Amino acid sequence: MADNSDAYPHFWAILDRLPVALLYKESAKADIFANETARTLLGLNQTEKPLSLPQLSDIRLLDNQQQRISLVNNPLLLALSGTELCQDVLLDIKGSIISFTLRSQLTKLQFSIGNTIIVTLCPQQSRSAAAASSLIPDKPAPDIAELEEALAFDKLMSLISTELINVSSEALDQHVEDALAALGEFCHADRSYIFQFTDDLSEMSNTHEWVREGVVPHKENLQHIPEPALPYFFEKIQRDHIFAVADVSKLPAEASAEQQEFNNEDIRSVLCIAMLAGQKLIGFVGCDMVARQRNWTSNDLRRIKLVGEMIANSMQNVNYRVSLQQMQQELLAANQELQKQANQDGLTGLANRRHFDEKLLEELQRSARSESPLSLILLDIDLFKPFNDHYGHQAGDDALQKVASALSKEARRQGEVAARYGGEEFALILPSTDEKACREVAVRVQQHIKKLNIRHCQSDVASNLTASMGCYSVIADKHTTAAQMLARADAALYKAKAAGRNRVVSASEAP
Ligand code: GH3
Ligand code: MG
Ligand code: MG
Repeated sequence: MADNSDAYPHFWAILDRLPVALLYKESAKADIFANETARTLLGLNQTEKPLSLPQLSDIRLLDNQQQRISLVNNPLLLALSGTELCQDVLLDIKGSIISFTLRSQLTKLQFSIGNTIIVTLCPQQSRSAAAASSLIPDKPAPDIAELEEALAFDKLMSLISTELINVSSEALDQHVEDALAALGEFCHADRSYIFQFTDDLSEMSNTHEWVREGVVPHKENLQHIPEPALPYFFEKIQRDHIFAVADVSKLPAEASAEQQEFNNEDIRSVLCIAMLAGQKLIGFVGCDMVARQRNWTSNDLRRIKLVGEMIANSMQNVNYRVSLQQMQQELLAANQELQKQANQDGLTGLANRRHFDEKLLEELQRSARSESPLSLILLDIDLFKPFNDHYGHQAGDDALQKVASALSKEARRQGEVAARYGGEEFALILPSTDEKACREVAVRVQQHIKKLNIRHCQSDVASNLTASMGCYSVIADKHTTAAQMLARADAALYKAKAAGRNRVVSASEAP
């Protein structure tokens, strides 16, 4: 309905303002809406959201004896499940009993996917409540009532299960509680609940609970119950997948712990059915009778089983979806790591040549767009071959790593990139940096390398390891290429080598 309310705002706005109480739902969808009049009349929260099952069951519909009609015979629910009706009903509105005609129709609206069920509640002003009540037919014969009840339950379940199919993990709890409320009402139970086992089946916890008005909830006290606390129950439910007790006082002697527990909660009858995910036992759904005993029927069994299967399926679906999301996130992280590795030089951790080429092109285009200067420094370690020959390849690698860390100290601002350009050659991209500032950076790099104090006895330049640098700065235009920039910086580097090494030369300096 929500989709349609976007597409046909006027239609829904008119429905909302009609002076007659309306409830409506699309037959293919689960969401039920009430217009403003209905919400005011029925004392529902003033919200545009779909109605929940507890909200619907809170509506006080009365029978001709002015007794509250249970969910089982509720004409409103029958109507919303698709049964066409025209029936007089009594509504208890804050203590005033008012008679209404409840009429439901399946209507094909031009823009809706399937039929739309529209339920109207028209007050019968001319008739007294008593007169209206006489219009409500007497309860049908019990066998028909049973059939109707079964039908109503199935319709209600299909309503809930439609919602449960694609339920999000956040909405799951509310839907499970709705299903438990329906189960409790239809089985005439006092409490209905879900317990979940831990993976190793050694412990169980009460995760969801519904209680009839006036019945004490116990969920909070029933967390992390270990197997030794209720051994008879654990064995029965895990072996037989069913625990059906019509009279708790007749439990066998070995179930004394269970009997004690039931007595503490004034439970007289219990029916629990296992919930399975595939072949695996994950928990159970159950109903209790409090302060009164009853014999469970095959219908109760069928209903509990159905609700259990439905809930187990949706829990499994939600789990699948959550683990799928986790897997996607792990894949994403792995991809990001791979991407990082693909851009990094293995020895020094600086950007590799491929990443350098990409970044240089990006910065070149940015410089042309913003007409801001872009600088490039090429650095080559002096006399590195004799260093390697004398100190060994491992010492050479260590020296390369140290020079890399000295270089990366000057690549901290946004867009600045320090890269390993080749064997013992490095590069620094400096966006928004002119020639003068670029030269200053190069001189600082030279100082950082000096401070590394790497002994180089084979050098005739200095007693420690040194490097030569060529700088080139440009305000790029659309004709400027990366190859040109590299060639100019390389030429400056060549000049630095030729002039005696361990120095910085800018491309613009005289030869
Ligand atoms: P120049 O001052 O003219 O640059 O002299 P150079 O000796 O540094 O230049 P040349 O190009 O002759 O030698 C570079 C040396 O760098 C050769 C090679 O042994 C060394 N080298 C290149 N890559 C690596 C590396 O990954 N690890 C080590 N340990 N050495 C490397
Ligand atoms: Mg070289
Ligand atoms: Mg060299």
